Amino acid sequence: MPEASGKLTSAPITIRIHERDNVAIVANSGGLPQGTALTSGAVLRDHVPQGHKVALMDLAIDAPVLRYGIPIGFALQAIPAGSWVHERLLRMPDARGLEDLPIATVKPEPLPPLEGFTFEGYRNPDGSVGTRNILAITQTVQCVAGVTEFAVRRIKTELLPKFPNVDDVVALEHSYGCGVAIDAPDSIVPIRTLRNISLNPNFGGEVMVVSLGCEKLQPDRLLPPGSIPLVDKRQGTNAVGQLDVVCLQDDAHVGFMSMVNSIMHHAKDHLCRLNARRRETVPASELVVGVQCGGSDAFSGVTANPAVGFCTDLLVRAGASVMFSETTEVRDGIAQLTARATTPEVAQAMIREMAWYDAYLKHGSVDRSANTTPGNKKGGLSNIVEKAMGSIVKSGASPISNVLAPGEKLKTKGLTYAATPASDFICGTLQLAAGMNLHVFTTGRGTPYGLAEVPVIKVATRTDLARRWHDLMDVNAGTIADGSATIEEVGWELFRLMLDVASGRKKTWAEHWKLHNALVLFNPAPVT
Ligand code: CA
Repeated sequence: MPEASGKLTSAPITIRIHERDNVAIVANSGGLPQGTALTSGAVLRDHVPQGHKVALMDLAIDAPVLRYGIPIGFALQAIPAGSWVHERLLRMPDARGLEDLPIATVKPEPLPPLEGFTFEGYRNPDGSVGTRNILAITQTVQCVAGVTEFAVRRIKTELLPKFPNVDDVVALEHSYGCGVAIDAPDSIVPIRTLRNISLNPNFGGEVMVVSLGCEKLQPDRLLPPGSIPLVDKRQGTNAVGQLDVVCLQDDAHVGFMSMVNSIMHHAKDHLCRLNARRRETVPASELVVGVQCGGSDAFSGVTANPAVGFCTDLLVRAGASVMFSETTEVRDGIAQLTARATTPEVAQAMIREMAWYDAYLKHGSVDRSANTTPGNKKGGLSNIVEKAMGSIVKSGASPISNVLAPGEKLKTKGLTYAATPASDFICGTLQLAAGMNLHVFTTGRGTPYGLAEVPVIKVATRTDLARRWHDLMDVNAGTIADGSATIEEVGWELFRLMLDVASGRKKTWAEHWKLHNALVLFNPAPVT
């Protein structure tokens, strides 16, 4: 497990991202006091907290405040050089319209393929590869969650020790299935999310469903015939390709224990087959990585996200699949995204997803500015424009070759924009549905986020966070701000850690402590 490293220094350190920028952020832990002389010549007129911006020159009223080379806001008053530039001094720019965008205009020189990197994974009958060997119990409706959880506790204590090659048993609890307008057009989002999660590569194709009986989301609606891949050479009590369902309202069940025993009996068949799975050496191209951030600060776009972006490019060069998401956190960068699309069709799909999300937010009488949190602002991020410019960096510089709507399953290699809300749990749930087998999560404020279904590698943006949360953070990208490591070095460290974690040679801290956040569905359709 990587240790927090990098020494703190008392010399003033400010970070300017782009040569056009007229502000820089203060990197020193604890910030810098009033009167500090910066190398740029400016003398601080205020105490500037860590991660917050300082004006490098005099800014007139209405002048653009430039970070990442673009206006993140306009000065509401004259701001003298050396001032603390906080969110109360800035007017946020309007969102870029979705018309007249540059379409597939950037044609980067292809980076050389990255060959020879492998990991030890579980090859599935459908060709996908798992990084863990987990029995997942799918549920059609929240009503069955308590019974399933009771059964899972017994499975873990009574059955799992007999199947040493199986890592875990996970009940896929969720709030959907009944009390919802299931025929509303947008119900396709939660339904396909649940369907595709049950087919995640870490579950080995062993789909098992617990149903109540009277719910709207009936098992054959959740997983219609043909949605489960047909599997050859499979020996077991279940017919090939037939959905395995335990229905609690079935007349055969008399008493609670009869339901629990039924779930355990069905689980045993799946555990037998999962237990026969063995890791084999597979190319790094079998990784399906979802990247996201949560609890961001002004360092996110300087340290952790650029390192993840470098790693994204390594993965694309290795032929792997990488998804970036979080629509409200990339909306302000739409022009650079459509420019990086490989084809006009990919660019149009991105615009379609952004337009849909704009309308979704407008229906709730808000816009993308509803995204930022008190913690983001405390960490130095003035508004969503500044946050988005730091967030989008996770996507690296590779061409964007594919777009997924929320809950869709990924079928291609390369870099994909998987449209999701930025909410950590909803984004993670949708990336799971897309088929993610490894999750990378950056944080500046700190979050103990973890999922039961896939390993989550957490990257700290600051050395101070990595030091205090030394047994929760897997990688310290704060070394980049400290000057003790480069973006490339941390990117390579992350890449190698990913291969170790995917192989099961290393566990993430979230796995070590069994920190599991709930699956949270995105349901844009009405409930009844
Ligand atoms: Ca997030």
